[in-house]
Amino acid sequence: MPPCSTKCGKNAILKRPKTGDTLCKECFFEAFENEIHFTIQRTKLFRPGSTVAIAASGGKDSTVLAYVMKLLNEKFNYDLNLVLLSIDEGITGYRDDSLNTVKQNRDDYGMPLKILSYKDLYGWTMDEIVAEIGRKNNCTFCGVFRRQALDRGANLLKVDCLATGHNADDIAETVLMNILRGDLARLSRCTAIMTDSGDGIPRVKPLKYTFEKEIVMYAYFRKLVYFSTECVFAPNAYRGHARMLLKDLEKIDPSTIMNIIQSGEDLKLHESAKVPTLTRCTRCNYVSSQDVCKACILLEGLNKGLPRLGIGKSSKVKRMLEEKKKLTENCGSGDMCSRNEGNSCICLSNPA
Ligand code: SF4
Repeated sequence: MPPCSTKCGKNAILKRPKTGDTLCKECFFEAFENEIHFTIQRTKLFRPGSTVAIAASGGKDSTVLAYVMKLLNEKFNYDLNLVLLSIDEGITGYRDDSLNTVKQNRDDYGMPLKILSYKDLYGWTMDEIVAEIGRKNNCTFCGVFRRQALDRGANLLKVDCLATGHNADDIAETVLMNILRGDLARLSRCTAIMTDSGDGIPRVKPLKYTFEKEIVMYAYFRKLVYFSTECVFAPNAYRGHARMLLKDLEKIDPSTIMNIIQSGEDLKLHESAKVPTLTRCTRCNYVSSQDVCKACILLEGLNKGLPRLGIGKSSKVKRMLEEKKKLTENCGSGDMCSRNEGNSCICLSNPA
């Protein structure tokens, strides 16, 4: 390897994927950490004295985020109180193991840890949901429930903001997905470094400009303990395609990642793109853009044996509920009936 390009006198041991610089280990650490510090300072991400929950999954992104946040907090006197917040989706062979890594992070970094489970919050584990709905829409349920669970955890811990480990590759992938789906209204939200959860607790992404490959390198050279097994219910097919496309483009030109993020930031909202107004769910009182939030609709579907309820457009959801009501009103079991098939009620209490 050539000498470190900072002229520190050491030999380089790596080539930075983001800039192409050849660096020694120490100069890479410094460049990596200083860039995150610069992002935090430039965007005024944290207020001194705040309590920040770090969404911790045990994976590389959240492990590096927790490590770097602790390091920068001490090095630059951010004066932040850092806590870890984890969600247990109830996925055997995946989340149970990765939570052990989070517990290790808790001990290594000396941060308090709060774990909330889908079972406690919703009455279902992801294992049970997949047994009910199959493996087609599982990530829709999981994503909606996790988002709400993290916000509920942040509220419970009374933190000032919630930091997530989304990196530059994740954001570029989401920009691509929103463009491919024609969903321009979501562009500004997915590229924003700080978003409003609607509940007064902002979500922030300190790793917004950090490349995934560099996160892996940093974790490797720092010898950080993280969990790298993929979820047993992955992949989310559509995101998987966007990811492969991005990786192919990155091979040709690594600046593609930053260019896509930049394009997402610069794209003006299309005039007809509707940005939903936030209100409160009439059932659980959680922040929602509809009368009933997506999590409550998905839960209703699970509890009534209509797992496809809430998958797709809201007009379709209303139609399904009306059909269900019509089918069950004769036998008197009302909403409790779960034995409808096709267009005829087969409820035992109404054998005719
Ligand atoms: Fe949940 Fe899907 Fe991610 Fe697994 S891959 S943790 S089911 S969102």
